[in-house]
Amino acid sequence: MRLIFLGAPGAGKGTQAEKISEYLNIPTISTGNIIREALKSGTEMGLKAKSYMDAGNLVPDEIVIGIIQERLAKPDCQEGFILDGFPRTIPQAEALDRMGIIIDRVIDLDVADEVITQRVSGRRVCEACGNSYHIAYKKPNVDGVCDACGGTLVQRKDDQPDTVLERLRVYHEQTEPLKGYYEKQGKLISVKGQNEVAETTALVKAAIEA
Ligand code: ADP
Ligand code: ZN
Repeated sequence: MRLIFLGAPGAGKGTQAEKISEYLNIPTISTGNIIREALKSGTEMGLKAKSYMDAGNLVPDEIVIGIIQERLAKPDCQEGFILDGFPRTIPQAEALDRMGIIIDRVIDLDVADEVITQRVSGRRVCEACGNSYHIAYKKPNVDGVCDACGGTLVQRKDDQPDTVLERLRVYHEQTEPLKGYYEKQGKLISVKGQNEVAETTALVKAAIEA
């Protein structure tokens, strides 16, 4: 199964992708995580991406398209995958189509802007492995410490309030049109994000199996 998870920043794409990834036993590919990794290891691509990311803007299409092309060529993607955070613009979606990759379904996680700002401001991520937590809704067992690897939890620079507003603006302007793009292809399924992660997961599973 080849899936795309669409939705605003902080709509819960990453969390849901992780669940469905385990459920279907296919990898999740998060362009955001790949870029943050590249940044951490100081590669040229990471350095190029940093200024865009910190400001809440999208990284240029040619960079992320290159990342995805390379990643999808790896053997673990042959049986399917979940794309979390790609495509985010029409040209990115067109590039995916041109690569000849047939997407089965596009799950749009629908969450109101007010809820997004609240969620994202409380988000904390593991410095070491990238796992995501929330100070109120998804607490780690020990404050400030990653359950999975013991790493330190930090706030992403782009999760600070001003940057979140900019990311939402960019989402509505550049990413939301993808709903129409995939609706035309008959692949779009909209899922209303619930307060409980497990409730949303149940809806996503139903959408995939429908
Ligand atoms: P979120 O879904 O919470 O916004 P991500 O980790 O998916 O977070 O993305 C963080 C940032 O990484 C984005 O704001 C953007 O700068 C960059 N990025 C990730 N994916 C893409 C993409 N497909 N196109 C352009 N920029 C991207
Ligand atoms: Zn961790």
